[in-house]
Amino acid sequence: MLDYRLDDETETLRKTVREFAQEVIAPQIGEFYERDEFPVQIVRQMGELGLFGLPFPEEYGGAGGTYFDLCVALEELARVDSSMAITVEAGVSLGAMPIYRFGTPEQKQEWLPRLCSGEALGAFGLTEPGGGSDAGATRTTARLEDGHWVINGSKAFITNAGTELTQLVTVTAVTGTRPDGGKEISSIIVPSGTEGFAVGQRYSKVGWNASDTRELSFSDVRVPEENLVGERGRGYAQFLSILDEGRIAISALSVGLAQGCVDESVKYAGEREAFGQPIGKNQAIAFMIADMEVRASTARLAYYRAAEKMLRGEPFKREASIAKLYSSEVAMDNARYATQVHGGYGFMNEFPVARFYRDAKILEIGEGTSEVQRMLIARDLGVG
Ligand SMILES: Cc1cc2nc3c(=O)[nH]c(=O)nc-3n(C[C@H](O)[C@H](O)[C@H](O)COP(=O)(O)OP(=O)(O)OC[C@H]3O[C@@H](n4cnc5c(N)ncnc54)[C@H](O)[C@@H]3O)c2cc1C
Repeated sequence: MLDYRLDDETETLRKTVREFAQEVIAPQIGEFYERDEFPVQIVRQMGELGLFGLPFPEEYGGAGGTYFDLCVALEELARVDSSMAITVEAGVSLGAMPIYRFGTPEQKQEWLPRLCSGEALGAFGLTEPGGGSDAGATRTTARLEDGHWVINGSKAFITNAGTELTQLVTVTAVTGTRPDGGKEISSIIVPSGTEGFAVGQRYSKVGWNASDTRELSFSDVRVPEENLVGERGRGYAQFLSILDEGRIAISALSVGLAQGCVDESVKYAGEREAFGQPIGKNQAIAFMIADMEVRASTARLAYYRAAEKMLRGEPFKREASIAKLYSSEVAMDNARYATQVHGGYGFMNEFPVARFYRDAKILEIGEGTSEVQRMLIARDLGVG
């Protein structure tokens, strides 16, 4: 039987996050966004609400929920603001999840309680200045020396890497050569503040301006051998599986933005008058909003389906790519339409739709570009 209704617990979570986003985030996020500032206090409050621990077991301080719960929460956050949604997405799905999925019992005990409570933030350093889509082309290296990994290289565009809450970044690095001559890539935890680990200035970005994105460099950074995450040489496979899940989360975030565009447009179309009547009385405007709702609703089904397969333990790569590709393009389309519905005010930063417009584009780029998703879907179909 198909049943995509939320159960009582998930519906309560959805309502709680919706209220938090409307009451706490909405009134203040615009100012942080315009100042390019990371709102530590709001992030702490999201931690107190339990958002960073949603899909983790209670023994690590998590909520004992599922990855789908995380996605539902991300959708409601992004319906109001994407900077805070990506802060949670990256903190959970990229910061804590690699340790939970692949870490040793000691690593889990050391890091997960802090990461689940939101008292600490983790980051995931895969992309390098020389390339993101071709992630296997990693140039950062790590060599074993006297029981320590010595890391050299750099990473680009890393979310949550330099906030005052950040305590670690897990990086991928070349640790040797595979028997087939390819690069052996491993994942290693680098605690913030380790000597030789430099965190660059925040990038000046088009969108997600209240989130933290940095370039990182590693110059003879020494961390204990035990900081290896999972098996040596499994780093590439690990991050591919982390990205498969992450695509469902980015899809949920995209659906939230697309739905936020509908919310704002319905409101504005009822209030704004032109030619003696609300603009929403014009079919041209009403149809734009109807189309936006159609896209948001169908994109939601795409991520529900991918999450359902993942929770059932079935292969879900193709569905995750479909959901990510479709909903990020829906977010872009809805942001364009919502700005149009708002006319000149849609171009003013004080209106949420202007933020949605600026935040939508990255959804087609981060955690695998639209072209990469099309490649993955085509390959899964046996073409390309
Ligand atoms: C705000 C922000 C936050 C980010 N956060 C993180 C993070 O926390 N951790 C992290 O590791 N990374 C992060 N990233 C990096 C992001 O995942 C990469 O930017 C993305 O994967 C694309 O890589 P790239 O920028 O190197 O583009 P490239 O790989 O250089 O691609 C450039 C263009 O070429 C296309 N292209 C590349 N190869 C092919 C091909 N074979 N066929 C067709 N087209 C192709 C791409 O689709 C794209 O259009 C972030 C990026 C941004 C902007």
